[in-house]
Amino acid sequence: MNILTIRMFPDPILREKCLRISEITLQERELFNNMAYTMKLNNGVGLAASQVGIAKQMIVAKNQNNRLIKMVNPVIVEAKGSDFMLEGCLSVPDEIVEVERPFEVVITGINEKGKEVELKASGLLARIMQHEIDHLCGKLIIDYKKKE
Ligand code: ZN
Repeated sequence: MNILTIRMFPDPILREKCLRISEITLQERELFNNMAYTMKLNNGVGLAASQVGIAKQMIVAKNQNNRLIKMVNPVIVEAKGSDFMLEGCLSVPDEIVEVERPFEVVITGINEKGKEVELKASGLLARIMQHEIDHLCGKLIIDYKKKE
């Protein structure tokens, strides 16, 4: 596995709208493995492909049991509740921002085997997934900063 270079703000790729993936090939599976490895070495809990320079809709995240979630083309189909939490980002290392997000979400997408999956998440995992899905739209935590 390879360690990938994490792109830092203001790298323009972090603002790109990532492309949907139509087919999962060996290339995507390798990228997923390298993303997971890179996330782990950086003590991250989630990583989007654009953060390693690839504008594709692919995210990895760790759930509460340290199980790895790999998802392609994730879409939030349901969101409930509201919650505030401080968030950091490997691509914006000097910022911690309080972000309001739904507490519970249902996300659909495709796993690394090409199978359609539905993920129900609440609390920390819901937050991580929403943060990573933001990356796929070019959105960063600094966009949630309150205007003074
Ligand atoms: Zn991030």
